[in-house]
Amino acid sequence: MTDNRNPLLQDWQTPYQLPPFHQIRPEHFAPAFAALFEQHLGGIDALADNQAAPTFDNTVAAFDAAGASLDRVRLTFENLCASESPAALQAVEREMAPLLAAHDSKVAMHAGFFARLDAVHQQAAVLDLNEEQQRLLQRMHIDFVRTGATLQGLDRERFAAIATRLADLQTQFAQNILADESGYQLPLTSEADLAGLPDFLRQSARGAAKERGAEGYVITLSRSLVQPFLTWSTRRDLRETAWRAWTSRGENPTRDNRPIAREILMLRQEQARLLGYENFADYALADRMAGKASAVHALLSQVWEPAKASVAQELKALAAQAAALGEPTGIEPWDWYYLAEKVRVARYALDDAQVKPYFSLDAMLAAMFDCADRLFGVKFIEQTREQTGVPLYHPDVRLWEVRRGDELVGLFLGDNYARPNKQGGAWMHVYRRQRRHGGKVTPIVVNNNNFARTDGGPTLLSFDDVRTLFHEFGHGLHGLLSDVNYGRLSGTNVPQDYVELPSQLMENWATVPEVLAKHARHVTTGEPIPAALIERIRASQTFNQGFSTVAYTSSALIDMALHLRRDPAGIDIAQFEIDERERLGVPREVGMRHRLPHFGHIFSGGYYAAGYYVYMWAEVLEADAFDAFEEAGDAFDSALADKLHRYVYSAGDSREQGSAFRAFRGRDPRAEPMLRKRGLLRTE
Ligand SMILES: [Zn+2]
Repeated sequence: MTDNRNPLLQDWQTPYQLPPFHQIRPEHFAPAFAALFEQHLGGIDALADNQAAPTFDNTVAAFDAAGASLDRVRLTFENLCASESPAALQAVEREMAPLLAAHDSKVAMHAGFFARLDAVHQQAAVLDLNEEQQRLLQRMHIDFVRTGATLQGLDRERFAAIATRLADLQTQFAQNILADESGYQLPLTSEADLAGLPDFLRQSARGAAKERGAEGYVITLSRSLVQPFLTWSTRRDLRETAWRAWTSRGENPTRDNRPIAREILMLRQEQARLLGYENFADYALADRMAGKASAVHALLSQVWEPAKASVAQELKALAAQAAALGEPTGIEPWDWYYLAEKVRVARYALDDAQVKPYFSLDAMLAAMFDCADRLFGVKFIEQTREQTGVPLYHPDVRLWEVRRGDELVGLFLGDNYARPNKQGGAWMHVYRRQRRHGGKVTPIVVNNNNFARTDGGPTLLSFDDVRTLFHEFGHGLHGLLSDVNYGRLSGTNVPQDYVELPSQLMENWATVPEVLAKHARHVTTGEPIPAALIERIRASQTFNQGFSTVAYTSSALIDMALHLRRDPAGIDIAQFEIDERERLGVPREVGMRHRLPHFGHIFSGGYYAAGYYVYMWAEVLEADAFDAFEEAGDAFDSALADKLHRYVYSAGDSREQGSAFRAFRGRDPRAEPMLRKRGLLRTE
C-alpha cells in the first residue's frame, strides 16, 4: 500500500504507535478501508490457496494474525465514532457501516478458507495442540458456522445481504438517539426554574448552555444532566417535561426508531432461521454461558417477584415523603428519583451535595489505580502531552503507562467528560488488543465516561459515578492484563454474559472502607471521609433496589420476549412494550430504564440483543467471587488476588468460562450473594 497522503495507511511512527490523531481526517477512512479490505481478503485467499496440507499454524494461527492492519484502523474508527464524532465523521460512519458488514460477510463466507479450517477442525482430537490452541480452533470454527459459513446457494447470499442491511439499520438507530439527546434543550431561565438544584448541577447546566452557545442554563438529555435534574428539581412541572422528553427519545417523527427496530427484529429472526434456530434468542444464547432461554428465565424469575414486593414497600415510603412535603401522594414516574433522594437523605443522613466533595475525579482515579496495584501488581504512570508529544483526539483525554516493574504492560487512556459529539453512557474499548503470537503486542485500552465538568473547580463525582468509574476500569483491566497468545482469545473477547464479571466485580473495591479512608478526602480541607459516612454509604447500597431491579429486569424480560418471537413481522414495538409491561405487572410508577424506541443496547448493535440479562448473570458471578474475599476477611487477600488474575483478568477466552470460574472459586457460582447484595434475600 503506497498512499503517502493517507496517514491511516502509513506506519505509525508515533510514541507507543498510537494512531496519529492530529493527522486523521474523516475523509481518510473510506479509501483506507477500501485498501485494507482488499489486503485482508488477499491474505485470506493466500491462506486458502496454500498447496500444503492445512495445519493449525498455516490456517488457524495465520488467520488470527491476518487482520492486524485492518484491525488497527477499524478500532481507531470505532473509537472516534463513539468518543469524538462531528457530523462529517457520522456521515462516514453511516457510509461505512454496510461496507464493513459486507467485508465481514465475505470473510465469514470464504468457502476456500473455511474448507481448510473445517479440515483442521475435523482432526482436532489427533492434533498435537495445547489447551489454548484447541480453544482457538474451536472458537474460530464456531464463529464461522454462526456467521453463515456452512450455508449454500441462495441462503448464503441472503444471509450476507441481511448482515449488511442490519449494520445499516443499527447505525441509523444509534444516530437517531444521539440526535435526540444532543438536540434537546430544556432552558432554565429564572431562579424559580433552578429551584432545588445543587451548585454542581447548576454549574453543569451552565456548562451545557455555554457549549451550545446559549445563555443561562440548559438541561439536555445526557444522563449526567437529566438524571440529577429529576433527582433535585423541586419543580414538578419541569420534572415532568424533562421526563417525557427523556423517555420519548427515538420517537421523533423525523427520525423514528420504531420502524427501524421492527425491520431489525425481522432480519434477525430470518438469520436465526437460516442457521436452523427457531428464533433469534435461541441462536444468540447457544453461544453464551447461559446456553438457553430457560436458564435466563430461571435467573430473572428468582428476582422478579421479590423485587416487585420491594417496590410496593418503597412506594409506601415515597408516598409518606410526598405527604410530608405537602405534595400529591399519587406518585408519577417523574417523582421517583426526587422523592427517593429525599427518603435516602432522611434514612441514611446522606446528601449528595455533602458526599461529593470527598469524591473528586482525581482522587478516585488514584484509588482505582491503587487497587490495581495492590491486587495485580501494576502501576499506572501518567504521561502528559508535554512528555509524550502525542496529541490525542481531544484535550480531555489523559494517558497512563501501565507498568509491572520494568515491563510495559499496556497503555490506558481515560476520556471522562460528556461532550456534544460523544455518545452517552460509559464504556471501554481498545485501540490495540494484547497478543503474543508473532511478536509481543501490548494493549491500548480506553475508558469513556460522561461525567459533567464542574465549572471552575475539581470535578466531583456522586457515589454512583464512582461505581461507574470502577466498573469501566474493571473492563479496562480485563483488556490490559490479558496474557494470551492469540488476538481472537484476547481480553474482553469473551461471551457476553461473562464480560461484565471483571467490570462489576471491580465496583466492590469502591466500597471497601480502607480504600475510601485512604483516598476519599475532602476536596478543600483534605480531611479523610469520616468512618460513619462510609458506613452510611455502604448501608445505603441496598436502598431503592426494588426500583432498580424492577426497572432493569423488566427491560431484560422484554428483550427476551421480543427475541423469542417467531413472527416479528408487523410488530409495533411501542405497543409490544405496553402489552408486556401489563403482562409482567410492571408497576406504573417505576417507568422503564430503557423504552424500546431508544433501547440502544439491543438495537444499536447485535451484541446485547437477547442479552440485556447479561449484567445480572455476571452479577451472580461477581457477587459470589467477591464473597470469597469477604470470607477471607481481606479485600486484598494475595492468594485470591493471584487466582483472580490468573483465571479471570488475564485469561481472555483461553479457557471455557464455567471452568475458569470453578478454578477461581473452587465450585460453581451461587445466586445468594447477588440476592443479598440487592436486599432481595428473604430471611424467613
Ligand atoms: Zn460493563
